[in-house]
Amino acid sequence: MSSALSIYEDDDVFAMAREQFRVIADYLQIDVNNRERLMYPKRAIAVTLPVHMDDGSTKTFQGYRVQHHLTLGPTKGGTRFAPSLSMGETAALAMWMSWKCALNGLPYGGAKGGIACDPTKLSRSELEAVSRRYMQEMIPFVGPHTDIMGPDMGTNEQVMAWFMDTYSVYQGYAVSEIVTGKPVSIGGTEGRREATGRGVVYLVERAMDMLKMDPEKCTVIVQGFGNVGSVAALSLALRTGLKVVGLSDATVALYNAKGIDVKAAEQHVLKKGNLRAFDQGDRIDPNEMLLQKCDVLVPAAVDRVITERNAAKLQCRILAEAANGPTSPEADRILDQRWDEVFVIPDILCNAGGVIVSYFEWVQGLQSFMWSETEVTDKLFRILEHSFTQVIRRAKVHKISHRMAALAIGVERVMKAKATRGLFP
Ligand code: NAD
Repeated sequence: MSSALSIYEDDDVFAMAREQFRVIADYLQIDVNNRERLMYPKRAIAVTLPVHMDDGSTKTFQGYRVQHHLTLGPTKGGTRFAPSLSMGETAALAMWMSWKCALNGLPYGGAKGGIACDPTKLSRSELEAVSRRYMQEMIPFVGPHTDIMGPDMGTNEQVMAWFMDTYSVYQGYAVSEIVTGKPVSIGGTEGRREATGRGVVYLVERAMDMLKMDPEKCTVIVQGFGNVGSVAALSLALRTGLKVVGLSDATVALYNAKGIDVKAAEQHVLKKGNLRAFDQGDRIDPNEMLLQKCDVLVPAAVDRVITERNAAKLQCRILAEAANGPTSPEADRILDQRWDEVFVIPDILCNAGGVIVSYFEWVQGLQSFMWSETEVTDKLFRILEHSFTQVIRRAKVHKISHRMAALAIGVERVMKAKATRGLFP
């Protein structure tokens, strides 16, 4: 391995994405000459962001952006604000975005970026300063035809609005298509905020249908109550009819066999900012919550929460991976053995709703189109249906896991495009 590539190597999340890729590369019998260029990012940018804090001090933050490949179009990916964010993790997330976009037929390579910071510890003005400074540093590397940012953990519509504004000030006119996940009032798309959670629910319903499960008799546990987890939990409870028996965020994990009122939880979080003082259930060890009996388990927070330590003990029938990378390769090997007990909806399929509707938002921005929420949601479900059917068919015909099938379809598409175009992208 050359030293130029070693900037990613120390990171555990990158090691996980690399191992997943190795398994797929072996399965697809990818030539050694093509493996590294398929796996390593095209570009990785690290920036130092000095920011004036409210107390008069100046603090420097580290920011990253990784563009995985430019073979199929511009790169696309979320922006994560999290204390532990590293270049390796960002590169892993960018790689997963590539396979996700390709699986779902979107004309993008994957990207990811973010800042190593805890947004909950920043005031609004500090958050704005950090966000604007980050976009300012990124201006030479991004653009509506080069790399389009979106939200991820720790960022939201407001952060996207600051990104768009900073980029637009530099250009001298409004460039709404530089980011997705913006507020609707400045060119965002109806239904983008809800898209990832809605996609998760669509796929859970499809899986339940296939497995002939009656939603009214089923229970669900959701880890993470942010954008994705809250929309998924609310919709599964209020629309699909499942009973939510477990719910957690970074501050607390709650379990209640009689059911948790998710609407009340949402109201509580709107007022208090988190679930810490929400009293509708027993406090439970967060790791134990994942092991409770339920029909559907939705990890919707951080990576590597299903590992070799707990994969054999999961008691769910469906594992709907709303988060990116929630299951480690070691856990995958255990879940492969349990294929008839646990139906896995792999992350690059399960949480693809966000990037699919981001693609609509980007197209709308470029063309100055306006689509209603119903149109957006219909189009979203059509793409997810196609991807779901392809993954299930490939897994069945080739007798491989759903993750293998999903990754194989994604990697194969990028590989074929690279072979057709040549070495440049
Ligand atoms: P968010 O910041 O809105 O919410 C994250 C939630 O997870 C919060 O409730 C937080 O308290 C909780 N959390 C953090 N650490 C936790 C822990 N250790 N245990 C339990 N809960 C914890 O983020 P989000 O946008 O909802 O993203 C959640 C996951 O979904 C991430 O893995 C992200 O990459 C993935 N994802 C998000 C989108 C999107 O459109 N936002 C799209 C695809 C995938």
